Amino acid sequence: MAVRPNVVVVGAGIVGASIAWHLIRSGARVTVVEANNPGGIATRNSWAWINASWGNPEAYFRLRVCAMNEWRRLERDLPNLRVAWTGSLNWELPTAKLEVFAAQHAAWGYDVRRVDRAEAQRIEPNLADPPDLAVHAPCEGAIEPLMVARQLLSAARELGATIIDNRTVQSLDVCAGSVAGVETDSGRLDADQVVVAAGAGTAALAATAGLALPVSVLPALLIVTKPHGRLLNGLVMTPVMQLRQTADGRFVAAAIFSDADFGDDGATAAARLFSAIESLFSPMPSLAFDFHVVGRRPIPLDGFPLVGRAAGIDGLHVAVTHSGVTLAPAIGRFVAEEIVTGRRDPLLAPFGLERLPK
Ligand SMILES: Cc1cc2nc3c(=O)[nH]c(=O)nc-3n(C[C@H](O)[C@H](O)[C@H](O)COP(=O)(O)OP(=O)(O)OC[C@H]3O[C@@H](n4cnc5c(N)ncnc54)[C@H](O)[C@@H]3O)c2cc1C
Repeated sequence: MAVRPNVVVVGAGIVGASIAWHLIRSGARVTVVEANNPGGIATRNSWAWINASWGNPEAYFRLRVCAMNEWRRLERDLPNLRVAWTGSLNWELPTAKLEVFAAQHAAWGYDVRRVDRAEAQRIEPNLADPPDLAVHAPCEGAIEPLMVARQLLSAARELGATIIDNRTVQSLDVCAGSVAGVETDSGRLDADQVVVAAGAGTAALAATAGLALPVSVLPALLIVTKPHGRLLNGLVMTPVMQLRQTADGRFVAAAIFSDADFGDDGATAAARLFSAIESLFSPMPSLAFDFHVVGRRPIPLDGFPLVGRAAGIDGLHVAVTHSGVTLAPAIGRFVAEEIVTGRRDPLLAPFGLERLPK
């Protein structure tokens, strides 16, 4: 490996942006190549909840907790970067599952507790019908994902990274078992290391080097309202939606994915979701709809991050995951460390490409 590795990062979403910033801080030469405008595709449409919440095995829970701490480190490193650590109130699961979630995560040392209806009402006083049982996680938060991805990219640029936008990487250039660069729609770029952090485009690009990645791309509905006076203190997850209110008062809601109807590009589901937001509060507010979008979530088929070196192709790294907003600072630091020092963080051990079928 060169003393100062020359790294091309493909993709300028939250994952690629974080990798680029951590790499340049670690002394690498970095070029980010982005097919569209910087800031990502899944990233700009993300609900952007930072959490180590329910439904995951302990190893993944630990990685997520680490990532939450890494967000706090990033806030110190980049003083303009803000996470809204508002906490969350979650009653999206049936009672029995909520109980298991609260008990298991508390036993793992996560800051969660079960709350009854009166306590839920105290936490979110404007709810019309607070749940009889919810789980409160004061340690969780959210970011404005497009803004944060762009902050990371400009911080990387200030440290010397080159960010190339509106240029598509068409293939990976592999020579005698080592990556040698990338072919783009307007020329070739040399590199001794390439990180493919291309979200939904990752599998297609990896395939150009003969690497088969099982990644699906699933739709998810996001709607955003115009600003309104403050009604929510934190994030809420109900059986119908996930909802937060931004610093400037907008409501951002994501549909519970399996329930959403995307037949007409999400418009009907978006209208339903919008009314559900208004009905959540008492007195019922009159909100102004702004826009909806059907986002595309890249998800490795087993649901867990695929982050690491590609066996058999020296210098090729992949970073594709769901929950990329939560995980970005940890993935960024770990991938940079692995490229620059060769050390792989043990927390990433279960999430490498070794688990793929040969
Ligand atoms: C509605 C919704 C809600 C979500 N909620 C959450 C949540 O609450 N918490 C959470 O942690 N995660 C959430 N996610 C998931 C999270 O947003 C994603 O995991 C994360 O944004 C992925 O980031 P990324 O950088 O990998 O991908 P992207 O943001 O998609 O960025 C990839 C970039 O690569 C570029 N690219 C692709 N192919 C090429 C190519 N060949 N050449 C050059 N550039 C290329 C694309 O243009 C894109 O800009 C949600 C996602 C959606 C859609």
